[in-house]
Amino acid sequence: MMEAKKLAKRDYKGANKKQKFEYQCNHCKKWFKDSEVQVDHKIPVGSLLSWEDITPFLQKLIPEGLDAFQVLCKECHQVKTNKEREER
Ligand SMILES: [Zn+2]
Repeated sequence: MMEAKKLAKRDYKGANKKQKFEYQCNHCKKWFKDSEVQVDHKIPVGSLLSWEDITPFLQKLIPEGLDAFQVLCKECHQVKTNKEREER
């Protein structure tokens, strides 16, 4: 999960001195600061009993379990969440 975030991270070179890194939203491809992005799991995990179950589950599903996670900005995450609710 943190790996997904590491991959989307780069050094921030903008004006805000307090900000060291920025993260790219996997959806809109824009760059955001740490507090504005969320790590989202692409696969709904509602059927899993606990987080301990997720690793073998993902490894079975995708060779690189990493792909199951993506970094999204709050806006895209909200859109995705709303979409998922509608589908239910
Ligand atoms: Zn976005």
